[in-house]
Amino acid sequence: MTSTAVEESPISHVLVIVAMEAEANPLIELLGHLTLVEPSVSFSPFRIYSGDHGSRYKVTLVTNGKDKRFGVDNVGTVPAAIAAFASIHQFSPDLVINAGTAGGFKAKGACIGDVFLTKCVCNHDRRIPIPGFDAYGRGSYSSLSSDNIAKAFDFKQGNLTTSNSLDHSPQDDALMLDNDASIKDMEGAAIAWVAEQAKVPYLGIKCITDIVDGDRVTQDEFMENLHKASLSLRDAVPKVIDYVLGKTIEDI
Ligand code: SAH
Repeated sequence: MTSTAVEESPISHVLVIVAMEAEANPLIELLGHLTLVEPSVSFSPFRIYSGDHGSRYKVTLVTNGKDKRFGVDNVGTVPAAIAAFASIHQFSPDLVINAGTAGGFKAKGACIGDVFLTKCVCNHDRRIPIPGFDAYGRGSYSSLSSDNIAKAFDFKQGNLTTSNSLDHSPQDDALMLDNDASIKDMEGAAIAWVAEQAKVPYLGIKCITDIVDGDRVTQDEFMENLHKASLSLRDAVPKVIDYVLGKTIEDI
């Protein structure tokens, strides 16, 4: 399908990609009707839930699964990219929503529990100082235009910056500032890149668990707020799904 065709036809199938099971469980429970589907590649680590949404639409939700050796969620860009690649291939969705938690920048007005919709999505850990490769490393992928959705539900909006680390070095700080980031995660840019290759629109919905430019230890603040943030995602994601289904990209 060409990008024009995608823009003109109404959205009928939304793919939601979530890194961690704790983030996804309340949402899976709420969506209730989704059933576990076998991935097309037998050794895929991720878990796929798919089903009808009302009589006309479909929703597929993918979590990155647990690492078989380490027993923890497959967070980070590699599992996120293969989950996006394989599930876009298997389900041909009209929109990819990447739902999850994120760090927020208080300098950009982020507070714990806020729901953000993504604008531009960049990497901050791909430093390749060679002309052409520098811009490739950074990425700058676009999101579905979300001004109307943000207005409808009183969500915040901002640029998302991605790396494979929960913490951040001084070099990361400089690049995150350069990316004009409001929120920081470990998957968004990987999924946005795959979506760009597949010409499927991408939107990140991120709930803030910790403040990047605050004085708390990130992992403590993250663990403290993970459950509450997952409940906020359970409330926010279906609102966005129901808002976009049946609309064309232009209508949104
Ligand atoms: N100790 C945690 C680690 C989860 S990693 C655990 O195993 O339970 C953090 C996850 O939340 C990633 O999927 C990432 O996308 C998101 N996240 C939340 N806050 C973040 C931050 N400040 N920086 C980067 N990613 C963050």
